[in-house]
Amino acid sequence: MRPSLRLGAILGIPIGLHWSIAIIAGLFTVTLAGTVLPAVAPGYLGAAYLVAAAAVAAALLASIIAHELGHSVVAKNNNVGVEGITLFALGGVAKLEREPDTPGAAARIALAGPAVSVAIGVAALVASAFAGAVGTPALAVAALSWLGIINLVMAVFNMVPALPLDGGRVLQALMWRRSGDRNRATISAASVGRYLGWAIVAFGLWQFLENGSGLWTMVIGWFILTSAKAEAMRARFQLRRQQWPAPRWPGYGPTEPASGQPTDPWSSAQWPPPPLQSPGPPPPAQWQSGQWPPAGPTTDVIDVDGHRVR
Ligand SMILES: [Zn+2]
Repeated sequence: MRPSLRLGAILGIPIGLHWSIAIIAGLFTVTLAGTVLPAVAPGYLGAAYLVAAAAVAAALLASIIAHELGHSVVAKNNNVGVEGITLFALGGVAKLEREPDTPGAAARIALAGPAVSVAIGVAALVASAFAGAVGTPALAVAALSWLGIINLVMAVFNMVPALPLDGGRVLQALMWRRSGDRNRATISAASVGRYLGWAIVAFGLWQFLENGSGLWTMVIGWFILTSAKAEAMRARFQLRRQQWPAPRWPGYGPTEPASGQPTDPWSSAQWPPPPLQSPGPPPPAQWQSGQWPPAGPTTDVIDVDGHRVR
């Protein structure tokens, strides 16, 4: 996800917008101004609804950035670099430079985002209650409470224990700690994500058949489904690499150390390797160039706001 527009940097972390966020922010503003706010706080001019809705949309984007900053700051505290934060149609992505070293670090990084969303949600609801009590115009009170509710919904949806959601990362970290195998934990958490993705797609389809809506729900489900599949595929690559036998071709893999013991990364492999029965096929071209398994974005922290959009 490459940002189309760079906003700058916060705490040294570049913040960018993908063009798709503009469509969603626009749709969100129009829906809020056209139907939601007039129902909650009737009797205002159309322009007032539009201004209030645009303010909520802008505050929501800031909330998503804060959520991603939560992940990012905790990642940095756990020695995981952050390449940047990008907002797109389905929410935000904080791109980490690598995977965390321990299950504890993975869980802390995953929990930090929803914790920020809960804090913003509660603060907005308290502010809205206070504003209502002191006689602030009903439209401002309604806008504040909507901001609070959306942040809480965002936190709850993200804590569903299915990759690529934050809750899926917590589940992955728990299974990783129990089994000691990060890749198998990823595959399991991603399989929950696949089921969740299919369930959301099915729900969207039901909505579509029922009343013609649900297209966006299906997009969200499909996004979760494909992201979960990609995470599982990368984990399987890693797992297979670990399980590969010691190198059969000179020059690829670990060199034989003086002690005769293998070094990482294939410490479980038999060393020295058994004699070859036949010369065998040449190594894959990708291997020769040092790009096997193929590089991929392995550490996206992806958030889905169930409401809007994703
Ligand atoms: Zn998150």
